[in-house]
Amino acid sequence: MSFAELGLSPKVLEAVTAAGYTTPTAIQAQAIPHALKRKDVLGLAQTGSGKTAAFVLPMLSMLESGRARARMPRTLILEPTRELAAQVEESFATLGKNHKLTVALLIGGVAFDPQAAKIDRGADVVIATPGRLLDHFERGRLLMNGIEMLVIDEADRMLDMGFIPDIERICKLLPFTRQTLFFSATMPPEIQRLTAQFLHNPEKVETATRSSTAESIEQNLVKAPHEAAAKRDTLRALIRSQDNIKNGIVFANRKTTVALLEKSLKRHGFNVGALHGDMDQSARTKTLAGFRSNEITILIASDVAARGLDIPDVSHVFNFDVPIHSEDYVHRIGRTGRAGRVGHAFTLVTKEESKYINAILALIKKDLPYFEIAGAALAEAATPVAKSSVRKSLAGTKRPGPNRPAPPVADISPPQPAKPVAEESQEASHGFHSGNMPAFLTRR
Ligand code: AMP
Repeated sequence: MSFAELGLSPKVLEAVTAAGYTTPTAIQAQAIPHALKRKDVLGLAQTGSGKTAAFVLPMLSMLESGRARARMPRTLILEPTRELAAQVEESFATLGKNHKLTVALLIGGVAFDPQAAKIDRGADVVIATPGRLLDHFERGRLLMNGIEMLVIDEADRMLDMGFIPDIERICKLLPFTRQTLFFSATMPPEIQRLTAQFLHNPEKVETATRSSTAESIEQNLVKAPHEAAAKRDTLRALIRSQDNIKNGIVFANRKTTVALLEKSLKRHGFNVGALHGDMDQSARTKTLAGFRSNEITILIASDVAARGLDIPDVSHVFNFDVPIHSEDYVHRIGRTGRAGRVGHAFTLVTKEESKYINAILALIKKDLPYFEIAGAALAEAATPVAKSSVRKSLAGTKRPGPNRPAPPVADISPPQPAKPVAEESQEASHGFHSGNMPAFLTRR
């Protein structure tokens, strides 16, 4: 299947080629022909599946006829987070480069008036988070009765964030005859109810199920202590033990943990940035840009803040906490091993978290190997400027391949006594320095 066979316009096809896309992804191949026929689409697809282009491309084709009027946008895309909304705007810039379209980004945390001014001039596309969209509507700056196409993206995350009442309200404000494209990675009952209410005879399209994790990701579990400071020691020793690390995302369950980890890893010389829900938009954008350009090599994030971020080529994902919702595990580790690259995912597991990890293993239908960080590595990680033997703590152990049954922990890495000084200086001569991290991992 090629893009040319999907029925897209020549202008759109040219932009697709210029973007470097050669073959449609599964969700694109399935959804685009239905969308072009003006049918409602219900897409079960995750981030990374190419679903953004699955709605952007048919929308661009559709917008080639007709034009926007003042305060009456023609299409609306709803996203759960500001970052996702901004990413969709970037897709329009790339894929819509041959279309002279006005795209308005209506997200919270930034000034209201420039957004309103853009809608005043007539927007072809509005990309919005639900709250800010309703703000504009309530202030009388936006009319929704000209919307021809609605996209609801990441619906299950909208549910997690409590946006469903807003979504219902918005759907009721739109013309009944509009076309709706609806995407969700999972279909909990509340989402099914929403689709039954607001989609008309939808075409259902589905990619890999929500429970699948890519084979290109090597997944491992790491035994960790419950006590917070000791758990942070384990994380640092783990990061330092990774020879092949290029950059990584550390996930934590709570915003407070994200903030603590940022402080702690910085203090230990790591080159880190944090992303959590309480940050203002400019701080988030700055951190993300820093991570994309490799100025920041370790990003610490909560699930909500990191949802759907398109950061190509992340070599490692570290789950500082086991996610409470099993699907979040699939989303988190999906940040690595993208586009066929090999990725590495490590999840720290305390005794208290074992019920959550068991639920995850049942969901992904895999048995994952356990590592234990050696005692010497932990002792070093506990000091602010760690010395050299950390890297070796896992290097000498046999690394189980992905999906092989986990051998007993003691077989992988038995607690080791502290190393003699001579061994450390030998390592130093192999080029390991400053806490045994590659230079790019440390603060500049
Ligand atoms: P998404 O699931 O929409 O976040 O897309 C994930 C990544 O895949 C983005 O970096 C897209 O630019 C890229 N992408 C989308 N469609 C294609 C395609 N057909 N071929 C290659 N890359 C694509």
